[in-house]
Amino acid sequence: MTLASNFSGAFVPPARPVTGEDEIEAVVRVMRTGQVAAGPEVEAFENEFSQLLDGLHCVAVNSGTSALHLSVLALGVKPGDEVIMPSFSFAATANSVAIVGAVPVFVDIERDSFNIDPAAIEAAITAKTVAIMPVHLYGHPAAMGPIMEIARKHGLKVIEDSAQAVGASLNGKAISTFGDAACISLYPTKNIHSIEGGIVVTPDAEVARQVRLLRNQGMEERYKNEVIGLNNRLSSVHAAVGRVQLAKLAGWTKQRQENARYFDAHLRGVGVPPVAEGAEHVYHQYTIRVTEEVEGGRDGLADRLKERGIGTGMYYPIPIHRLPSFQRPDIASRVAGELPETEKAAREALSLPVMPTLAQDELERIVAGVNAL
Ligand SMILES: *Cc1c(COP(=O)(O)O)cnc(C)c1O
Repeated sequence: MTLASNFSGAFVPPARPVTGEDEIEAVVRVMRTGQVAAGPEVEAFENEFSQLLDGLHCVAVNSGTSALHLSVLALGVKPGDEVIMPSFSFAATANSVAIVGAVPVFVDIERDSFNIDPAAIEAAITAKTVAIMPVHLYGHPAAMGPIMEIARKHGLKVIEDSAQAVGASLNGKAISTFGDAACISLYPTKNIHSIEGGIVVTPDAEVARQVRLLRNQGMEERYKNEVIGLNNRLSSVHAAVGRVQLAKLAGWTKQRQENARYFDAHLRGVGVPPVAEGAEHVYHQYTIRVTEEVEGGRDGLADRLKERGIGTGMYYPIPIHRLPSFQRPDIASRVAGELPETEKAAREALSLPVMPTLAQDELERIVAGVNAL
């Protein structure tokens, strides 16, 4: 990486996961107990998460992708069943459905929130539709009011992909407490992490029990396997890291929101991310729109920021329905209607560093870099 000499300061990465002394001490503490696989540490982590989410059932698993996969299985999604979701997301959203032989049905997003468009959902429903999978992209809540109404009207399950939205809320109600299941990711670049990890959140005790079975070879009691399951357990070491981070979530969220407000007030010439009424955005990403009118477009701006030592992220330059993995003839998926906003977002979305550890001079350098258009 070469930095233009007239711009000083170290490279600002697009994300800066925190793995501090508290996390290291927690790992050592659990390692010294000798109980490193699943155990009371994981249960404590689940209980602490549950307190944050209206007391709903929380089941810890080894990744956000596992959380999605096991939710799909626990809710009884079968081969050939259709699940409606946005194409503008991380591949894991659709992978969790395709991997069980069910059919991801891709619909368009709303321009402002980058999230699934409720009107497009209704138009995509067929006799085979069993579920809707909204994604709270970038930490901005999807339109859960209309989505839940459509689900109730048509008897569909709702699985929230909350991978990016831990701590977010809509009209005072926590994100991840709307659907039949919700899936949180604890990957290092997410708002909090457990190195790797995920949480399934559900209001339904039986769904929670099924996820517990599925994560542990189908067993609640050893060698009394009730269903075909996997090993998707979270270790106590991972849970210990997650507990430390969970205690810091509120403060980090506030810092992300303050960073976002600074950008909102100071950025010029690009579209800053609007926040829907009643939505609490937790800014997993602070994503601007860079139209073709800007010289070189989005990619040109990203290059110029890189020259100034500022990292950015493109989430996601290729919508899921156009990924090679979803072009294969043996993988069933479907695009419902046209996806103009999805295609536009894939060309125009650029995420700026917004992590809570950004220093004031880094914030200023980011603004100066964008505004030097
Ligand atoms: C990160 C992410 C996932 C997957 O989570 P992992 O913990 O990486 O498996 C799923 N969906 C979305 C939208 C994500 O951003």
